[in-house]
Amino acid sequence: MNILVINCGSSSLKYQLIDSITEKVLAKGLCERIGSEGSCITHTPTGGAKRTEEIPMPDHSAAIKAVIDHLLDPEVGVITSLSQIGAVGHRIVHGGERFNKAVLINDDVVRAIGDVSDLAPLHNPANLTGIHACEKLMPGVPMVAVFDTAFHQTMPPEAYLYAIPLEYYKDYKVRRYGFHGTSHDYVSQRAAEILGKKREDLRIIVCHLGNGASVTAVKYGKSIDTTMGLTPLEGLIMGTRSGDIDPAIITFLMDKLHCSAQEILNILNKKSGMLGLSGGISNDFRDLTKAAAEGNKDAETALEAYAIRVGKYIGAYTAEMDGVDVIVFTAGVGENDGPMRKRISNYTEFLGTSIDEEKNKIRGEEVILSKPTDKVVTMVVPTNEELAIARQTLAIVEEEDRKKI
Ligand code: ADP
Repeated sequence: MNILVINCGSSSLKYQLIDSITEKVLAKGLCERIGSEGSCITHTPTGGAKRTEEIPMPDHSAAIKAVIDHLLDPEVGVITSLSQIGAVGHRIVHGGERFNKAVLINDDVVRAIGDVSDLAPLHNPANLTGIHACEKLMPGVPMVAVFDTAFHQTMPPEAYLYAIPLEYYKDYKVRRYGFHGTSHDYVSQRAAEILGKKREDLRIIVCHLGNGASVTAVKYGKSIDTTMGLTPLEGLIMGTRSGDIDPAIITFLMDKLHCSAQEILNILNKKSGMLGLSGGISNDFRDLTKAAAEGNKDAETALEAYAIRVGKYIGAYTAEMDGVDVIVFTAGVGENDGPMRKRISNYTEFLGTSIDEEKNKIRGEEVILSKPTDKVVTMVVPTNEELAIARQTLAIVEEEDRKKI
């Protein structure tokens, strides 16, 4: 069965068509500037040439229509009929406390995703528009919702509660949810497979270091703590997000800058992190590494601050799990930035970790960086959220089919 994986943002839509038997990507692409002037689609059939086309996409329905047209196109298409799409898997950012695993989408699920929109006001409404657009253009094709938060629903209350009056949790569900769950789940499972062990026998710390970044403690197969919180703003220093700060900074800056809380949050989300800390050089680690090598002190401090924060959480989660067996790096920085992995490992050597210099030069591949004699395995496992979504979608659709028999 071919599965269309959709990741719908407020003005963009990423997609992949995956053959669930071979697990090969047949085609992938991106629609950008949905709802604005100059909207365009970039479509790449596997093994073929990329095509970028400017197409008016006033809304997400138009974007899904453009995706379908490209998948069916005689030149760059990879299927000949819509019936060759067996199911659609949607990445949904927030599942609140209701969803601890992927589910078949029905009216009730759509309502529940809408109900938690106040927890992810930028993401969930956009995710819902993707669902509605597919419903309209592919009626009858089963759709599955795969939640970024679901994997972390195993966290115990002592890890997910904030130390604020309990009534705010009870009344408004203010708590830590965590994100990147699909990635942490996939990567920890894959790490165990590579090591020839069961995930249920391992204490794994997954460092998902992309533009957004989070660390998760996966103890014997379950997420027991993670760095992102009510929103993806908490935890590590990220590309443009501050991560952990003293919340009093918000009112202090509101006073100094004469602006609203919303404006400060915008600064914390979009102008902080590596971009802010480096004095505006870049949020991209390639630029920062280059600047630091050329002697820029701010870039150097930002890179070291980033490494300290990751190292700090590895230490904390080792304590929380009463030890650690495996540390895994993934996502853009984790998969590609050997020097950053080395900087981080400088803070974890006391745990018995080491990184082989030659292996650490490998980029974007599954590789074990530590020595066989090390107490803790350090490795790289490239994440593949789309494949994980396709797998979960297939599992749910097959389960539903079995129920019908
Ligand atoms: P997103 O959170 O947007 O999915 P990614 O996981 O794709 O992010 O990570 C993107 C980031 O990865 C870039 O901003 C850049 O900082 C970093 N990155 C990508 N390639 C490299 C590289 N070769 N060396 C260092 N950093 C890299």
